Formats: sequence, structure tokens, C-alpha cells
Amino acid sequence: MQLFEKLIDYYEAARLVLENTPRLPVVRVSLMESQGLALAEDARAKFDSPPFDNSAVDGYALRSADAETGRVFRVVDEAPAGRPARKKVGEGEAVKIFTGGLIPEGADAVVMVENTSGWGEEFELKKATASGNNLRHAGEDVRKGDVILRAGTELGPPEIALAATQGYGDLPVYRRPRVVILSTGTELVEPGRRDLARGEIFDSNSFALFAQAREAGAEVRRITAASDDAEVLRAAMEEALASADVVVTSGGVSVGEKDLVKETLLELGVEQVFWGIKLKPGKPVFFGTRENARFFGLPGNPVSAMVCFELFVRPVLIRMMGREDKRRPRVKVHFDEDVENRLGRMHAMRVNLYRTVKGWRAESVGAQGSGLVSSLTKADALALIGPESEGVRAGEPVEAIVLREEVLF
Ligand code: AMP
Ligand code: MG
Repeated sequence: MQLFEKLIDYYEAARLVLENTPRLPVVRVSLMESQGLALAEDARAKFDSPPFDNSAVDGYALRSADAETGRVFRVVDEAPAGRPARKKVGEGEAVKIFTGGLIPEGADAVVMVENTSGWGEEFELKKATASGNNLRHAGEDVRKGDVILRAGTELGPPEIALAATQGYGDLPVYRRPRVVILSTGTELVEPGRRDLARGEIFDSNSFALFAQAREAGAEVRRITAASDDAEVLRAAMEEALASADVVVTSGGVSVGEKDLVKETLLELGVEQVFWGIKLKPGKPVFFGTRENARFFGLPGNPVSAMVCFELFVRPVLIRMMGREDKRRPRVKVHFDEDVENRLGRMHAMRVNLYRTVKGWRAESVGAQGSGLVSSLTKADALALIGPESEGVRAGEPVEAIVLREEVLF
């Protein structure tokens, strides 16, 4: 079993994972599937929208020149939405019209039925109107040829609506990454299946990582290789690598005799970019590539696995989708007391954030052991401490990655 040759620092590792991450290919997806994805090309208006002058109200279309209060009009036709009138509007005439109905030839204004004597074959106008009243003009929303959505835009409900008004049935987007999550370890038992025997634990990492990957927008599959056996690992990894853009394993990547993940990967042709980061939690992280697939070997300790996902895997997934706008917010925080870090590694410390007149104050959630799953349920942010200095002084600014954006509001 190999020992770490050289640990790199967090910023170097964060740079290397992104440098080795291309965007995923552009695919066309239906409007319903496009939500949350980034548009890959500018979308232009194919025609003026709305495409025709239409009524903004229910009432009568008429000639504004005739529209004196008290005049009686003859109703010659009707124009509900989607059914244009066949007749033109002449002097003293009107067409019954409903919201969205095409303005008939000859008419230049619409009066609301509330301003007339009511529905019928004739009506009396109760209130004069001017040209253009209650009309929605062709092209008043967008003009033919306009860029309506810029490349890179996140497709949310309003963007999807706008694309639909222009007849786009599908849109070019960067596709979702396909992620395979693989837990390793002989001690692991699938939750809900049976009780634990002595020495066993439930696999929590694959569920955590599955949820994290899905939350980042990926299409995720999970596999459990409840084993540290080289053959079992090899088969599971082979399967994962064949179908995934990103494979994320947990466990078996450190320097224990049973830690065979890295060796197995190298045997399968994964090229190592780095193994080992000056980071707590998460020292043994492995990152490698094989053709278009990216491979993360995360540590087994649940907090390490989740924190390292946040720090390295999430940025990769959102970059693949062209969604760098989804990066976690980073804020400057300070502690009320000195915080030591003599590890020679950066400490990504789980903290709570409090708004104060002096900015964001951070406070450790408590014990920072990397097996304490409950600690992450309490954390608002990860404060990045050291390793250049041996900690931070009270009041000194420190960068923190905000995990729960709600705390900022
Ligand atoms: P390892 O990185 O394989 O040495 O594992 C480090 C610690 O994490 C050990 O206590 C493992 O039992 C635990 N661990 C490994 N995999 C998982 C998992 N999928 N779920 C929960 N704990 C795990
Ligand atoms: Mg293990």
C-alpha cells in the first residue's frame, strides 16, 4: 500500500478539478425537461410577438372616430380568441370581441363591455374611447430577430414561457451529468434491509452523495459494493466508469491495507490528477480522468465525503452544465475567539453564521470529528481556516462557503 507522495493545497485542488472539466455536449431537450439547465446558444425571436393586434379586454371592437358617448352601434360579427371575425368594421358598426381576439379590419379601438349597455345585437356606448385603447399591438412584447434569451441563461419558468411564445418546442442546453455513486466497505449494510451485526454500519454516504449530486442537477445512480475485495471493487468501478460522466466513490481511498480504490482505478486506466489534499476533513481525496469520465475517490468518513463533495464535486457538476452561477455564496466571516489550526492543512470548519453589526460572525457547530454526521445537519457554512497561518485571531476575516443560503436572508 502506497503512502501519500505529496499533498496539494485546497486551492490548487479546486483549480485542478475545474481545469480538467469540460462542459458536457449540447443536446436539445423539450421545454419541460429544460428547467434548471443552461441555454447553450442565444435564442432569437422568429417573429413579432404577439403576432397580431389583439384585444386586451372583453367588449366591442369599433372605429374610435365613431365613438361618441351615447351612440348606438350595430354588432356585425364576433371575434373570440382564435376565431377571427369575417366581417370588417364600418361606420357605426362593431364586432363583439374577447380577450386575445384578433382586431378586425377597420377597427382601431376596443371598448370594454362594462362601458356599454351590454351584450346584444346593438349597444349604446356609455364612454367615448380613443384610437389604440384596449389593444395589444403586434410586436409589443418582442420583435422578430431580437435575442430573447442569452446563451448561459438558466431556464426557469419565465424563460420557458418566453421560448414557448416563440414556438420553440425544444431548446439547446448542456445536458445533465450522469453520475454514479459507489460506496465501498465490507462493513456496509443497506439501510432498511436488515439489522446490523456486530461491526457493521449502515451505508449513509451513498445516500448523502446521491442527494448532493441530484441537488446539483445531475442524473444519479447509486451502487453499493459492500466489500473491500479488489475483484468486487473492480467490477463495480468498471460498470460505473462505462456509463458515467462522473464517478464518485466513498471509502477505501486512504492508506489502509484495505484501501484499494485508488489502485483499482489506476489499473482500470484512470489517470491520476491528484491524490491527497492538505485539507481537514478530506485528506485522502483522489481525482482522476479517463477519457471523458471524471473520477472522485472520496474518503469514507461521512463528513469528509460530504464536505469534499461540496468542495470539489459540486463545482465540477455545475461547470459541466454551464451553471457556474449556481456556485455557493462565499462570505467573509469572523470568530469571536482565536481559532487554532496547527495541522498544516486547511480546516473546512462546520460553523453557524450570525449576522452582527461587524458582519457575519461564525461559531463552530461543536465537535468537528469527521464521523459526526449530525454535525453537518447543524452547519450553515464551512469556514476555511489556514493552513498558512496557525489559525485565525478573533475578529480576523476568514472566507466561508455558505451551505444554507437561507441564513443570508
Ligand atoms: P475508509 O475511508 O474506508 O477508511 O472509511 C473511513 C470511515 O468511514 C470508516 O469508519 C468507515 O466505516 C466509514 N464509512 C465508509 N464508507 C461509509 C459509508 N458508505 N457510509 C457510512 N460510513 C462509511
Ligand atoms: Mg473502508
